[in-house]
Amino acid sequence: ILAEVTVAPLPAPLGRGATVALVDRSVAEEGEMMRRDFVANVSHELKTPLTAMIGFIETLRGPARDDTRARDRFLDIMEREAGRMNRLISDLLSLSRVQAEERRRPSGEVDLPGLLNSVLATLAPRAEAAGVVVRTEGLGQPVRLPGDADQLTQVFQNLVENALKYGGSGGSLRVALARVPHEPVLRGPGWAVTIEDRGEGIEEQHLPRLTERFYRVDPHRSREQGGTGLGLAIVKHILNRHRGRLRIESRRGEGSRFTVILPERLTRG
Ligand code: ADP
Repeated sequence: ILAEVTVAPLPAPLGRGATVALVDRSVAEEGEMMRRDFVANVSHELKTPLTAMIGFIETLRGPARDDTRARDRFLDIMEREAGRMNRLISDLLSLSRVQAEERRRPSGEVDLPGLLNSVLATLAPRAEAAGVVVRTEGLGQPVRLPGDADQLTQVFQNLVENALKYGGSGGSLRVALARVPHEPVLRGPGWAVTIEDRGEGIEEQHLPRLTERFYRVDPHRSREQGGTGLGLAIVKHILNRHRGRLRIESRRGEGSRFTVILPERLTRG
């Protein structure tokens, strides 16, 4: 524990003695360390594609100047790296927006099955390209919840995208909506959305850290899939704002199940 201790003499009318103030600095210090780590991570994530691009530009100016095949290949790689930077910046902006709004109670109402169906429709071409069969359950019932439609869309989009990215090609994906009559952590009834894949799964020791910014089980694999390492951190902050929960269950080699639990009503506290 880092503490700041200040000792001051008592004001004259109170007689002899001193006041001792103990201020716990550990929280502030930890926040500062996390901020520094975050800036270092962002710099590294942006520098990696930039360094690659600068290298290719130099090669195109020099040794590969007249090699049209190499030029096309290098331009493809540069386009991919620029796309990576673009995605990272979009995710950083999303993260900072959702963090800024985290304490503000969402004022809208969402049609949860409608929202899930539209996320699945948007991602259907990607599922088809990966040969993934999507099964849905409970999406026909009418469910309206308090929430921010854009933010909740982002939650389910990130989770379904992950299931497609890490769920392996030719697999299956299950998206189910069910009522939870009593959820102790929500202190009342809620709705659970389960997104389950039959992919590579995650070893247990990683599970508690998955929602940390830039935490990836396999950084190389994540980058190859176009990941930024920020998707689940964004999900966590949006769910905090909605007083919701994310439950992650997974077994290496068998698949993963991400369950979002949202309260039926947003109570204070
Ligand atoms: P990324 O952009 O790397 O996908 P996320 O924050 O969305 O970042 O996820 C963090 C990490 O969690 C991923 O890099 C991956 O290792 C792991 N992960 C997320 N979803 C799944 C899943 N459905 N199956 C296996 N691993 C997953």
